[in-house]
Amino acid sequence: MIPFIDLQAQKRRVETEARRRMDAVLEHGRFVMGPEVDELEKRLAEYVGVEHAVSCASGTDALLMPLMALDIGPGDAVLTTPFTFIATAEVISLLGATPVFVDIDPVTFNIDPDKLEAAIRAVEQNDSSIHTLPPNAGKLTAKAVIPVDLFGQAADYDRILPLCEKHGVAVIEDAAQSFGGRLGDRRCGSFGLCGATSFFPAKPLGCWGDGGAVFTDDAELAEKLTSVRVHGQGRDKYENVRVGINGRLDTLQAAVLLAKLDIFDDEIEARQKVAAAYAKGMAGLEGVVTPTVPENMLSAWAQYSLLTPGPQAREGLMAHLKEAGVPSVIYYPKPLHMQTAYAGLGYGEGDFPISEGVSRRIMSLPMHPYLEDGQIETICQAVRQGAENFA
Ligand SMILES: *Cc1c(COP(=O)(O)O)cnc(C)c1O
Repeated sequence: MIPFIDLQAQKRRVETEARRRMDAVLEHGRFVMGPEVDELEKRLAEYVGVEHAVSCASGTDALLMPLMALDIGPGDAVLTTPFTFIATAEVISLLGATPVFVDIDPVTFNIDPDKLEAAIRAVEQNDSSIHTLPPNAGKLTAKAVIPVDLFGQAADYDRILPLCEKHGVAVIEDAAQSFGGRLGDRRCGSFGLCGATSFFPAKPLGCWGDGGAVFTDDAELAEKLTSVRVHGQGRDKYENVRVGINGRLDTLQAAVLLAKLDIFDDEIEARQKVAAAYAKGMAGLEGVVTPTVPENMLSAWAQYSLLTPGPQAREGLMAHLKEAGVPSVIYYPKPLHMQTAYAGLGYGEGDFPISEGVSRRIMSLPMHPYLEDGQIETICQAVRQGAENFA
């Protein structure tokens, strides 16, 4: 079986440097907030092109902390897409705020800016005829938007940022899948008030455990984030100026990330080559829609996702691939408004038809920087054969 994500190949490459870095941590013994954390934050900020990087324990905390810093809570609406990993919406609910879902663009799978503007207006006017609002939520105030850079490709910030500014709504970029990607001359993670990323092992830049970071140019926000990260501490360790969390990144994970950052640009480059080889190997294939990346964008290629004609075709293709030793995964089989966890909001089937349709047709192929030409050839051939059976 070809691995879906080959972390072993990368391990062999970074092992010496990562062990050297981890050994240094064992020696100095500062396992929490050690010097590697500082060093990493400086390098991350420089990489993303922002003033401040605040590391934390996970991508989920990286989304939660800015919402806490903004005092978001009950009665507040935070708008996001239903076609994402649960963490994006979960952090909103954890604070007692309400996720207001906005459907996606059928090509990029990212939040649709026209629908976003309609949704903000619907919240402002408390009018569900403009955009589907959660029926059980009552009157809300639009406070923030969390656009997701799905599969590694930036959301449409050229349109999202001005419209959110116009409505006085903060933008928190969910860059968990797009670290290393670009839109124009700016890196993902640098858009809006702040960007949040994840260093979960399977993400473009992964550590050997959980980790995350928030990026911002806003000094006041950065200071609040560092306070929220450690139980809302003030100047003094035992002074608590707000309610916070224990959201620190382990020093050992910072050490691993420092070693992996050294080869990261090279890996992003390798992902471009894999994506290009896939596109070539599946060009013109009837019934298979391969991803397209706009001219001014660089995807971090967290996933390489295909659209099939429908659920039966997808099931057949995935079974065929499995027989050929090629794993595939569905990201995501069920949009968030259809999840049991969100039944309480009162959304129903048909509320976000693009997300629902895409969730029935989409599937992802193996994607990592160490896929070899022969493996890519095997995968493309298996997709071509499997697609012959599309009804
Ligand atoms: C992975 C992911 C997260 C959460 O990151 P963790 O580090 O697993 O907490 C949030 N949003 C998206 C889009 C993700 O893919």
